[in-house]
Amino acid sequence: MLIERLEEYFQREERVRVRDYFYVTEVAKCPRQIFYSAKGFPRPPLDGQTARKLAVGDAAHQRIVQALYGMGIVVAAEAPLPPNPLFHGRADVIVSLEGKNYVVEIKTVHPYNFEQMVAAPRRDHYLQLQLYLHYFDIPQGVILAENKANQELREFVVGRDEEEIGRVLATFERLRRTIFLEGRLPPLPDKSDWEYDQCRYCPYTDFCNEDLVIPPGAGQGDKPVQEEEQVPEEAPGGLFDGLV
Ligand code: SF4
Repeated sequence: MLIERLEEYFQREERVRVRDYFYVTEVAKCPRQIFYSAKGFPRPPLDGQTARKLAVGDAAHQRIVQALYGMGIVVAAEAPLPPNPLFHGRADVIVSLEGKNYVVEIKTVHPYNFEQMVAAPRRDHYLQLQLYLHYFDIPQGVILAENKANQELREFVVGRDEEEIGRVLATFERLRRTIFLEGRLPPLPDKSDWEYDQCRYCPYTDFCNEDLVIPPGAGQGDKPVQEEEQVPEEAPGGLFDGLV
């Protein structure tokens, strides 16, 4: 009686936006997924359960940020990155402790992944935080993870990692040229080191399988447009290998 109505209430169309920049949250994404998202290819609607899961994550963020405000240590929340040619994004929160600023990335994590994060944070979380440290010019930050199942917390205090930041920026500069300046589809990535199969959850599988470079119906009738040539030397330097 209610479940169908709730499913319908929560499910929503995914917003599609053509853009010429990356999101910080894409730092470990398959470069082809980034291409299709940035070029405005359509995605399937978000089902009700997935939308509710996202809402739970948002609520956890708000709860933690409110607590940090209550402690009187928040310098900024939802802080947008300074303008730059590569990345857009917002740092969850910046706190001040004992005279030092820290960028805090709050992550709600599936219990299985939480158990994997005993000795080190997830690599995508680490790289996202590194970008915030770079663009805000803050030497240290914290990845604060909450277990979705029982609200257990785990934190990793990390310093700015110039080597990793340099590698990410160089990789995305190449990807910017490929996707936004040349309008080419990145080559298929080497998936051998992926920690999970991104293709399994990818909303763009059909387009990828056909190497489409223009959304169906966008100025080309319904005729699929295929990439004529793959240029492997433009592959983004292996950064995506093994990243979650
Ligand atoms: S199907 Fe796989 S390789 Fe293709 S865009 Fe999706 S994640 Fe990337």
